Amino acid sequence: MKSAEPHLAQVPGPTAGDSALPLTGHFIAGRECAGNGGSQDVFDPALGAPASRVAMADSATVSEAVSAASSAFPGWAATPPARRARIMFRFRELLEQHADEICRIISSEHGKVLGDAAGELQRGVEVVEYACGIAELLKGEHSREAGPGIDSWSEMQPLGVVAGITPFNFPAMVPMWMYPLAICCGNAFVLKPSERDPGASLYIARLLRQAGLPDGVFNVVNGGREAVEALLDDARVQAVSFVGSTPVAESIYRRTTAAGKRVQALGGAKNHAVILPDADLAASADALMGAAYGSCGQRCMAISVAVCVGEETGDQLAGLLRRRIAALRVGPGSDNQNDMGPLVSRDSLERVLGYIEQGVGQGAELAVDGRGLIVPGYENGFFIGACLFDRVKPQMSIYRDEIFGPVLCLLRVDSLAEAIELVNSHEYGNGAALFTRDGEAARRFSSEAQIGMVGINVALPVPVASQSFGGWKRSLFGDLHAYGPDATRFYTRRKTMTQRWLPRKPGDSAGPKFSFPSGGA
Ligand code: NAD
Repeated sequence: MKSAEPHLAQVPGPTAGDSALPLTGHFIAGRECAGNGGSQDVFDPALGAPASRVAMADSATVSEAVSAASSAFPGWAATPPARRARIMFRFRELLEQHADEICRIISSEHGKVLGDAAGELQRGVEVVEYACGIAELLKGEHSREAGPGIDSWSEMQPLGVVAGITPFNFPAMVPMWMYPLAICCGNAFVLKPSERDPGASLYIARLLRQAGLPDGVFNVVNGGREAVEALLDDARVQAVSFVGSTPVAESIYRRTTAAGKRVQALGGAKNHAVILPDADLAASADALMGAAYGSCGQRCMAISVAVCVGEETGDQLAGLLRRRIAALRVGPGSDNQNDMGPLVSRDSLERVLGYIEQGVGQGAELAVDGRGLIVPGYENGFFIGACLFDRVKPQMSIYRDEIFGPVLCLLRVDSLAEAIELVNSHEYGNGAALFTRDGEAARRFSSEAQIGMVGINVALPVPVASQSFGGWKRSLFGDLHAYGPDATRFYTRRKTMTQRWLPRKPGDSAGPKFSFPSGGA
């Protein structure tokens, strides 16, 4: 991969008032600006100190971004899909060329290890590649001779201005679940990324412009709740894609549907891995390590519960995990030798520590205690080591709630039926995995699990770009999933035309008909 071109890496942004720290501003109509809503700190989680500031949009700034998108929409909607795709091809090349710089920004603001940031970017690029086929994806359906001299067809028309609101944990990938397909469908887009790691979105906005995207088709407003509510309440915004925690997803879903808008709101998760006695336990333990502790457990598809069928399976797996955790390297994300970086913020660290206290208080066995970890040179960083709770019970808060940290809960049950019952009783339904060599058990699990994304001997069953991503139950509010085939449905509305051209002379009409028209008539 080539390194960043200086003119892109060092574009001077607006300054943050009196602060000496650089400011990540907004990107509206192709220009960067600070807006009037003030700014707040963005931390380097490894150092535990502010490293930059982010502008916080007020409602006037949001309105400006929506105006820019509204003005750009008609021209963009009239641009042939093949031309839109050509811009995406160029954008894809720029992402590849600037991957190192994007990963550096992600790692410095989120804390994840550079290699993990590269993995997230790659999954986002795959959605861009899928969007490059937009001419094929938008092809409508045609019925010739639907009636005498009548042809009928449907086409997918863009919605107008659509908004995306995204979480901190995948600052490049989750926005890329949204805007490449929304834009390729002919919409104009306003992105509101997480205020905790806004840098990647602004950098990528510059790349889209460099790829030739007309100004106003892609805009970024930074900020928090005020910016989100201004976006939701703006009558010009036709549809909203949200990814974040369940309470916010649910409230956004309710507010947006009450306003008559289209919405997909993806929420939190508690993903179970069920381990049967016949599984390759060493391979299962390896898979669980990455799925539970990668990105410090801050993934919506992270495995946070291991359900072992049989006491012996539980004892063996706990031993294998303990040995692997002892070898885990925890440190700053900028060092690719590390397996796990810090948590994103002090608040997150305190939340995770609070849950560990609760688990101990409620009687779970803290088999590995990652608290009190000090990383030399990074003493103020938001670090915590991997934690493993054994003999967890379903009524405990560490089992019921999404902790969003490096905490794996191990439960023991007597049968596959009991494991499926456990999975299905949980309020979340994002992902689940089964580890086994038994095809019949695998088939039963994949059919009976009340879960949106199921893995068989795959711990993180994140769908590829040509499938769609989404959970069930309280992990998704709305009907359509993210990216893949569902995205072209979400970001367009169908129009169906019926047209008659009969060779007719004047006076040929058979006169009015009052029965309901049907195909043969
Ligand atoms: P969050 O809900 O705190 O924030 C998500 C977005 O909503 C951010 O842009 C934030 O600024 C905004 N926001 C926060 N509070 C708001 C409020 N009260 N009103 C309006 N907007 C608000 O989530 P987070 O902590 O950034 O991300 C972690 C969560 O996201 C976890 O629960 C994780 O499971 C979930 N997540 C889910 C998926 C999925 O695909 N289901 C993917 C990634 C993350």
